[in-house]
Parts: sequence; C-alpha cells; structure tokens
Amino acid sequence: MGIPKKRTSKMRRDRRRAANNNLRCAAQLNRCSKCGAALVSHRVCAVCGYYGTKKVLTVDNN
Ligand SMILES: [Zn+2]
Repeated sequence: MGIPKKRTSKMRRDRRRAANNNLRCAAQLNRCSKCGAALVSHRVCAVCGYYGTKKVLTVDNN
C-alpha cells in the first residue's frame, strides 16, 4: 500500500463522495420476465404476481 503524498482537501473528498453517492443509492431495477414491468430484483412482481418463472401471488386486476 502506498502512502498518500498530499492530504486530500475537504472539497476534493466531498466531491468524490458526492459523485459516488448516486451509484450507491440507486435502486437496482430489472424487468419482470413475465410482464416487463420495472421491478426491484429478488422481489415478487406486483403487476402479475410472478417471481422468476413461478406464479407466487394471485393478483386481481379489477
Ligand atoms: Zn410481472
């Protein structure tokens, strides 16, 4: 491991953290394989009730 030659200024440090912030907080959205709706991964689709290829929930579209 190298030793930093210069102290990172508050501005540089905060700018670096702010730039990475949206990568850290962004929701990981996938597409439902059944209906194509935007979906958080490892969650049952709220539109069609499928998780992967299996139907887990019965959703009534009334
Ligand atoms: Zn779906």
